[in-house]
Amino acid sequence: MGAAQPLSTPDSDQIISINPATGETLGSVPDMSVDEVRAAVQRARTAQLAWRNLPVDERCRRVKRYAVELMSRAEEVIDLIVAEGGKTRQEALGMEVAVVADLVNYFCKHAPKLLGRQPIPLHLFKHRSSYIHYVPRGVVGIIAPWNFPFSIPMGEVMMSLITGNAAVLKPSEITPMIALKAKELHDDCGLPPDLFQVVTGRGRTGAALIDAGIHYCVFTGSVATGKQVAAACGERLIPCTMELGGKAPAVVCADADLDRTAKAITWGAFANSGQVCCSVERVYAHQSIHDELVERMAAEIDKLRQGDGASDKVDVGAMTWDKQVDHVEAIVADAVGAGAEVVRGGKRLDRDGLFYAPTLLTRCNHDMDVMRKEIFGPVVPVMKVVSEAEAVALANDSHLGLLAYVFTKDRTKAKRLAEQIEAGTVMINDVLNTYGCPETPCGGVKQSGIGRTHSEIGLKDLCEVRHVNADRVALPRELWWYPYTDKGYKLMLRGMRWLLGRR
Ligand code: NDP
Repeated sequence: MGAAQPLSTPDSDQIISINPATGETLGSVPDMSVDEVRAAVQRARTAQLAWRNLPVDERCRRVKRYAVELMSRAEEVIDLIVAEGGKTRQEALGMEVAVVADLVNYFCKHAPKLLGRQPIPLHLFKHRSSYIHYVPRGVVGIIAPWNFPFSIPMGEVMMSLITGNAAVLKPSEITPMIALKAKELHDDCGLPPDLFQVVTGRGRTGAALIDAGIHYCVFTGSVATGKQVAAACGERLIPCTMELGGKAPAVVCADADLDRTAKAITWGAFANSGQVCCSVERVYAHQSIHDELVERMAAEIDKLRQGDGASDKVDVGAMTWDKQVDHVEAIVADAVGAGAEVVRGGKRLDRDGLFYAPTLLTRCNHDMDVMRKEIFGPVVPVMKVVSEAEAVALANDSHLGLLAYVFTKDRTKAKRLAEQIEAGTVMINDVLNTYGCPETPCGGVKQSGIGRTHSEIGLKDLCEVRHVNADRVALPRELWWYPYTDKGYKLMLRGMRWLLGRR
């Protein structure tokens, strides 16, 4: 049962892409060699040396064509995202295609201002002036996972081009075809073909990319691989952003709007079959509303239609990778063995394709892997708590801190709890959405990563920050230059005491 993928053996020079819902072969891509990766980076660098000289607004004018091309060919892209990744058409539109088009439009509008010279008023040295300017780094290496094979890498590719960099993308071996489609769109909208390269292959192709002369690395993937990539970058002193795993908690207070909360958690746990870094992965429900919340969530799950995402009558599509289904089976079996109760789902579907039933577990506790390890599948475990303080303490009892959610009608309390939770982003009375807001930062604390993508922070991280300090008044010399004299020292000391030592 279930489509095995990829079909190629680990040392074959071709990687075969397979539709996880139907088992159909979609195509194959080469497992590129170290030399091919290095050549791609060199071509990108050559193109970048010309591209970086264009003014930011001219780069934005050209990059904006990508959004136009993408939206005019949206269905062609959606078809491939659905076929290769297993998600539904609505998810492919809302969580992949529209996210990239909106990000391109947003940054093409705002980047000229965000990347302009930024003056730094000097508080002491008033006779001089300082400013920061932002310089493209060179070639940005982007290593991407399979769960959002279009929106995750293409957001970074587009931001790299806007900032004057070139981009070389290493897609996951599970979803390489969509990366090639993204490159086709790039070339078709008239951007310099060498400016964006795709290097297909397995993990060693990603490792080769880090060693191929890139100037910055944006990695999105698991904590385990992230540690290897960060170490490889560290060895070469390549600055990097690490977007790693999540274990998003949902704290549900006694005064939450249970109808909205049940609907939000159901969507937040099962969208893209739960294969989202910010999926709701654990729920802490106040004891006074626990049973009603579970009942409402079960009712929401009963309405879900599961199947091949290509059909417009499906809410939950296929999982993307057979090993991920095995992982979900094991983590649910472990929880059930330790006393968790299966309220809904709890099994792989008895049909072709990679389908695991939307699963709701109760009677969970922190001794179970399901509450501590990333599930990355359509499973939501719920735990009863006696207080909000207990919920926050449990939410923080994790090595991960990417997203978190708080549900309550009390907005003041919501913000207080949100600020106590150790996560890169906390959403109140909503789930998942902020990845679709290009102006907000994405990234985690603890082992969920280093740095931020999207937002002004993510944009500027793709640049070298350079500082210029200039004279405003022509003076013959500065007070502290040679020669050092006793008189000069005493004058300075008096001046410093007056400036720095006053109450
Ligand atoms: P992996 O860490 O397995 O792979 C990520 C990428 O790294 C793939 O392209 C992979 O190639 C490549 N890779 C593997 N080994 C190496 C290596 N030694 N050097 C360089 N690159 C390498 O993650 P998954 O693809 O399984 O993605 C799921 C994970 O991603 C989850 O933990 C999820 O939480 C996280 N994620 C985080 C997000 C965030 O924003 N923080 C967003 C989305 C996902 P290949 O696939 O060919 O082996």
